[in-house]
Amino acid sequence: MKRIVILGGGESGAGAAVLAKVKGFDVFLSDMSPIKDKYKEWLNKWQIPYEEGHAHTEELILNADEVIKSPGIPLTAPLVIKLIKQGTPIISEIEFAGRYTDAKMICITGSNGKTTTTMMTYHILKSAGLNVGLAGNVGKSLAYQVATENFDYFVIELSSFQLDNMYEFKANVSVIMNITPDHLDRYDHKMQNYIDAKMRILQNQGPKEHFIYWREDPIVNKEIEKRQPLKMQLIPFTGKSLKELGNTPLTPGAYIRNGKIVINLADQMIDLDMDELPLPGPHNLYNTMAATISAGLSGIRKEEIRQALKSFKGVEHRLEKCGTVDGVQYINDSKATNVNSCWYALMSMKTPTVLILGGKDKGNDYTEIEELVRERCTALVYMGLHNEKLHDFFDKMGKPVADALSMREALEKCRAFAKPGDTILLSPCCASFDLFKSYEDRGDQMKAIVAEWMQQ
Ligand code: ADP
Repeated sequence: MKRIVILGGGESGAGAAVLAKVKGFDVFLSDMSPIKDKYKEWLNKWQIPYEEGHAHTEELILNADEVIKSPGIPLTAPLVIKLIKQGTPIISEIEFAGRYTDAKMICITGSNGKTTTTMMTYHILKSAGLNVGLAGNVGKSLAYQVATENFDYFVIELSSFQLDNMYEFKANVSVIMNITPDHLDRYDHKMQNYIDAKMRILQNQGPKEHFIYWREDPIVNKEIEKRQPLKMQLIPFTGKSLKELGNTPLTPGAYIRNGKIVINLADQMIDLDMDELPLPGPHNLYNTMAATISAGLSGIRKEEIRQALKSFKGVEHRLEKCGTVDGVQYINDSKATNVNSCWYALMSMKTPTVLILGGKDKGNDYTEIEELVRERCTALVYMGLHNEKLHDFFDKMGKPVADALSMREALEKCRAFAKPGDTILLSPCCASFDLFKSYEDRGDQMKAIVAEWMQQ
């Protein structure tokens, strides 16, 4: 019997173990950290042997015919290096699950906007009555759903780490929202390695498949040129007007005509008013375009798409309004863990803004937001254990600045800086792990404090 070993016992690892067991393999799962009770229940229910909370037992792992690696484990982990050296195939959970389903796969990646676009696409498909599952970085693991449910469609958010170990998997619709520097610490500090991981979403696509992308992204465009001839059908989206496109409509594609959004597909033309956009900010124009194209390709008609967009409420911790205190609005954009997402957050601000930024820096270059901070921010609060880089970069602008070591301290300092009519924005450009458990914890703390102040 073929032996499958799973490294990592989180959502994707535990899900892969269940699917491997259901498909009749000899399965073993190993995690160096303690496994959450929920996943231990799955493993026990399906009688899957596992180990947790100590170093991997090599003799139980090196004899695998195939290894499924959780995306959190880097390719440089010593055990992974050993497996590669001895020639054991290492795949991702998504690759494995893809072998056992005929469902249509809509796969979404990018440096920013993945979750919002994935959730919006899923919301439209589900509202239109399709039998659809949500998987990848959001929702349940694809493997678990393939093992236990029978969906016709999956909308899957794919990070670069998930794409790393994908080989035969084919996306029916692939979406690349954008590519900007992120996670370079996991890619040998080489941007091209990260780009190559993202571009894997196109592999195996043929003439029946579609690739949706942002037409103005310089990196994606360069990759498209490099990879000619591409076999799949390309569908670009742009924030440019027909006039700016030299009166040449994108066929197919999404663009602006007479102030309206036009989505031009082979079998239907969808138009949306700007005020039908479910979320604010220029980035959400792109997210809505990508989601609408994906929905249109799934056969959903214009009226159903419009109806569904009306009821889409956005995703927690992404430009989420927390409330107003003393005439000052508080916005939680804790998920902005890189500089580009903060750029879009600042672009969406309509009032003077006090910005909270800082945390665990992933090799950030703040030049991208320099102008916007100069124009739109009235004060800055640096919230992190190491704020030196922020002081070096921003203090010279001459704006009021302050340091904070907790969310409460940061919000109190912002409150002292802000005037009625201003916005206090948490859009930190950085990961949260120096002071918080996660970006969710960081955003939740902000919301709890604002809620408390609103009651006073
Ligand atoms: P991801 O899943 O790729 O991290 P999210 O949808 O969770 O993307 O959004 C993360 C952050 O990026 C949010 O703070 C949001 O304001 C910003 N953002 C959302 N969509 C885009 C986009 N298309 N381009 C750039 N930034 C975006």
